Amino acid sequence: RNKNLKIIDGGVTSPWEQLEVRLPSSDWTEFSPEKLRPDDEQPSDSARVVFELGYLPSVTCAEGLHLQAECTHPTEGAAHAHSSIRGVEDMASLEDLHDGAIMHNLFLRYQQRHIYTYIGSILAAVNPYQSLPGLYDRPAVETYSRHHLGEISPHIFAVANECYRSLWKRLQNQCVLISGESGAGKTESTKLILKFLSCMSQHSLEVSSRDRTSHVEEALLESSPIMEAFGNAKTVYNNNSSRLGSSSSCISARRATSREAGLLTNRVVRQNPGERNYHIFYALLAGTNTQQKEAFGLTHPDAYHYLRQSSCLADKTINDTGTFQDVLNSMRTMQFTEENIGEILRLLAGILHAGNIEFMTAGGAQAVDSRDSMAMALYSQCFQLDHPQAQHPIRGKEDFKSISILDIFGFENFEVNRFEQFNINYANEKLQEYFNKHIFSLEQLEYNKEGLVWVDINWMDNGECLDLIEKKLGLLALMNEESHFPKATDDTLLEKLHSQHSVVYDVRGMLEKNRDTFRDDILNLLRESRLDFVYDLFEHVLSRNKQDTLRSTSKHRRPTVSSQFKGSLHSLMATLSTSNPFFIRCIKPNTHKMPDQFDQTLVLNQLRYSGMLETVKIRRTGFPIRRHFQDFCSRYKVLMRDVMLPDDPKGSCIQLLHLYDSSSADWQLGKTKVRTDVFAFV
Ligand code: ATP
Ligand code: MG
Repeated sequence: RNKNLKIIDGGVTSPWEQLEVRLPSSDWTEFSPEKLRPDDEQPSDSARVVFELGYLPSVTCAEGLHLQAECTHPTEGAAHAHSSIRGVEDMASLEDLHDGAIMHNLFLRYQQRHIYTYIGSILAAVNPYQSLPGLYDRPAVETYSRHHLGEISPHIFAVANECYRSLWKRLQNQCVLISGESGAGKTESTKLILKFLSCMSQHSLEVSSRDRTSHVEEALLESSPIMEAFGNAKTVYNNNSSRLGSSSSCISARRATSREAGLLTNRVVRQNPGERNYHIFYALLAGTNTQQKEAFGLTHPDAYHYLRQSSCLADKTINDTGTFQDVLNSMRTMQFTEENIGEILRLLAGILHAGNIEFMTAGGAQAVDSRDSMAMALYSQCFQLDHPQAQHPIRGKEDFKSISILDIFGFENFEVNRFEQFNINYANEKLQEYFNKHIFSLEQLEYNKEGLVWVDINWMDNGECLDLIEKKLGLLALMNEESHFPKATDDTLLEKLHSQHSVVYDVRGMLEKNRDTFRDDILNLLRESRLDFVYDLFEHVLSRNKQDTLRSTSKHRRPTVSSQFKGSLHSLMATLSTSNPFFIRCIKPNTHKMPDQFDQTLVLNQLRYSGMLETVKIRRTGFPIRRHFQDFCSRYKVLMRDVMLPDDPKGSCIQLLHLYDSSSADWQLGKTKVRTDVFAFV
């Protein structure tokens, strides 16, 4: 047997120039990837398949069968040429390990339009900024549903499939964490995962009877256009940027923490130059017919203060009329009544009109704030109404398991960074902490448990950064303290922050935004609305406010916006901590939103701050494949048919492993498990 041949589950994979596999065709169970079939022929009843340079075939045969394979023309050069020209599918198999090599590998693959690359089971996804034909169609769904992660070329469907399988196999909640900066492709990735899961669940529905669960699943998928129209807006970084953070859960729907939505409603009343308000407002103006326009008193976007401040009303990549139609269709599919839909449109129009109210009183500054805070409250309540998770929370059976997909706003670093950026970046640090914990800390724990020597990897711990934000006398605490102090101004806040820390955020407007200005008198006003719809929206807010006040400190203070945000982040983290995670790292290849442009410095920077190199290192040195002795033996003893193996599992493993690799470079033996390299045994 050629030592350089890599064996995968009784199959063979190798980057060699020519590889010959002999096996009666009746014994083939799978032959993948299909497009790599030599000469486009199904292997006929004989035996001999030769793979040419550059192909990475993976052949699987029925369990218990003996597979013979050998490299007919193995050359080091060929193997090398292979990876240096085409890149590698899993970073763990890179020859050189440094940031540049990782970036270069992504670059090579991106040039061939291979946007996905693995780092062990973590998926790196580089935004193609173009639709790639066939990449996400039905056959792709089918193919990936039939393979385990790593068996065929990297793909987001492979992650979705693994997640779906784990749900049933482990009976544990699953979560997919999608990170990356604004415009890197998180929302698109979320939609692709939902698409895959929906295909899978439709499939399983054919078997089981349709129940309430399936209705919610459908509702969730159908709701996507609504969520986007109400939650996304054009920003400098992304024409369809998610501004209202939310997590989608499929299979079961979890009640979204309503407060998550509250953070960024600021956009309803104010936008930066070149950015837009939420898509839905422009869609409303573009899509309503003359009759509706008349009924709601609507005209052109530039007639509204809430839309014209930023001097950006339209974008050629955004089809506002289409959005309106999509939203209406979704609402109808989700069984909103025509009356409901009419109320929602009327409310949106009302928000626009409210923005045009001007005041001529002595305390006019304050009146404008009240107006804006009312508009934001109306919008945020309306968003939650349209949010299916809030509408159809499932409280299923005790053992109900779910898949949650987390798509939050990515790290932001503008010329000037304010309150929103602070909160967004804080949330991202929390997610990074979770990532670190799973990838590095738990790994270290496992090493200790198995009695192995820990290879020191210098990963970036963001604990200090989180302390700076969350701990006693940290940024949040100081900010909240000042917010509760009526006489405090942005200047006093700045002074206070500087006395303790040095951070680069613009404090202007911070206190105002942090105070929950939605006062009870405005709330009461809205509850007195003649419109039942508006009354209903706010009915429960009153009782919630009362509870908040009671729950918060003994001083009867209303919690600030950032402390509400912290609360919802922590509850999210608590949910995540009981879930089995999958990670997707979205990478933005250029800042121009253009296809086929790969800015190496930009990518390198993203790889660095997300700790990608350290992740690759740990995946590699960490011998990512772990199997209990018994499991390992039963899986691989077919490879050593002619060898007498001892009875005890550990002894058998040792013998098997020595026969495979006597130098023990590719494996390690723990107290209960065998750990091997990605190349060796999967
Ligand atoms: P934000 O944090 O601002 O919400 P995001 O990470 O969610 O950003 P997306 O909205 O998912 O970013 O992606 C931005 C744009 O990039 C999309 O509108 C789409 O044009 C393009 N894009 C992203 N992923 C893909 C993909 N897999 N295929 C084709 N185009 C994509
Ligand atoms: Mg997004």
